[in-house]
Amino acid sequence: MAGDKDVPVDDVLEFPTDLAETPRHPRIALPGALFGGRRNSDGVEWGAQDDLTALATAMRNAPEAPEVKPLTARQIDAVMSRAARAAPLWRDTPVATRSTALRRAADLLEDNRAALMATLAREAGKTIDDGVAELREAVDFLRYYADEAEGICIPRILPGPTGEANRWQARGRGVFVTVAPWNFPLAIFLGQTAAALSVGNAVVAKPAPQTPRIAAQAVALLHRAGVPEDALILAPGGVEVGQALMTHPALAGVAFTGSTATAKAINRALADRDGAIVPLIAETGGVNAMIVDATALPEQVTRDVVASAFRSAGQRCSACRILYVQEDVADRMLEMIQGAAATLTLGDPMDPATDVGPIIDADALSRLTDHIAGHTPIWQGDAPDGLFLPPTIIELGRDEKLTQEIFGPILHVKRWKAGQIDRVLDEIAATGFGLTFGLHSRIDATIAHVTARATAGNVYVNRNQIGAIVGSQPFGGHGLSGTGPKAGGPLYLTRFVEEVVVSTDT
Ligand code: GLU
Repeated sequence: MAGDKDVPVDDVLEFPTDLAETPRHPRIALPGALFGGRRNSDGVEWGAQDDLTALATAMRNAPEAPEVKPLTARQIDAVMSRAARAAPLWRDTPVATRSTALRRAADLLEDNRAALMATLAREAGKTIDDGVAELREAVDFLRYYADEAEGICIPRILPGPTGEANRWQARGRGVFVTVAPWNFPLAIFLGQTAAALSVGNAVVAKPAPQTPRIAAQAVALLHRAGVPEDALILAPGGVEVGQALMTHPALAGVAFTGSTATAKAINRALADRDGAIVPLIAETGGVNAMIVDATALPEQVTRDVVASAFRSAGQRCSACRILYVQEDVADRMLEMIQGAAATLTLGDPMDPATDVGPIIDADALSRLTDHIAGHTPIWQGDAPDGLFLPPTIIELGRDEKLTQEIFGPILHVKRWKAGQIDRVLDEIAATGFGLTFGLHSRIDATIAHVTARATAGNVYVNRNQIGAIVGSQPFGGHGLSGTGPKAGGPLYLTRFVEEVVVSTDT
């Protein structure tokens, strides 16, 4: 990246010329995507059967993504110093140029969907459905933050006393470190990174140790789209790399998605640093509940519980972990849920017929198996050999509580008596988590009462409780579930900037 401010911006960013000259692929309409689907109107529809079959073939033919070597803690000083040198140049690049690069990256993601989804399947066990949704979300994040940044980063002249000009500006803070989870190794990895970049931060991006290859592919596409290589650096590695990043003097902010325990450890490390106070944005887990009353539509509840608890093998922080069902209808509901869950096909994520893929790794599988062993499930489905866990339902007694996030396809169930919905709400609030919450009821007064008292950041009524859409359902929770702000929402970027006012006597 050149340091001379007079160099034309495209030269500074070294936009690859072949990008502009390459004929555009047919635009792809992603199902449900606000920022992909609506704007890409003239192409193939994702989700059509032919397209999925062709996509599965293209995924199988896609070459393995290259291996990504973890960094050592000793390499982190050089990485952070490089990013620190790039930060002022990227901050001073016009926001329109930064946004153009992010939008180009979104286009490149769509153009490379088979290669990216192949890596998502191979590295993270993502089924084709999950891969489509994840790619769509990543594209949405890029376009959404590109748009939002253009609103936030435009300097404003504020009113003031006569004879004085007040110019307010929001700008990048410096070097942001983003720490991503393995369960959305493309969408969340890119969402955090794009947010920080969009408002002018340099980014050092640490993927989860399980999923460095998809992160490397995403970073390569961002570089190809025009983000300078020093303004976005991949930092693959484990705990030691994370610790070295958190203590580096150039650090200006952290965006983390992962466990509550790790968020607290990062918070402690930041508090103990010498030098500047460094802000943390953390999105963590949930003990997400759904309440079903006796007026709910059984077929709708069945569909939504199965999707919320078992899709993506329950490896979403939004997933339903505990179902509170009114006892009058509980037997019937549970019978229907078990019947529907039994039809799920577990297997090869690249097979279009697969509904549910594997658990991320052997450690996670053994933690889940240990949890099940401590209970007597009322139902369990089938699973092939390998890293698969059958969908499982565990019923808890009246005094038993679920206090920890169990990150897999295990649904806990409790029955409640008519008239005791407040006791259920108190029990849910007492977990201290507050990420997603579901309600199925056809009584307006119940819906109004429960949604007013619900202690979650994302409340879903008469639908499933997963798959928040960027720009429509900003995602994130409270308490043990995170610090806010909500990803894909109008306030998200405000935490990635510093504000300056220049007041001049005229
Ligand atoms: N945003 C995702 C959803 O609504 C969940 C994100 C996560 O699991 O971290 O399903």
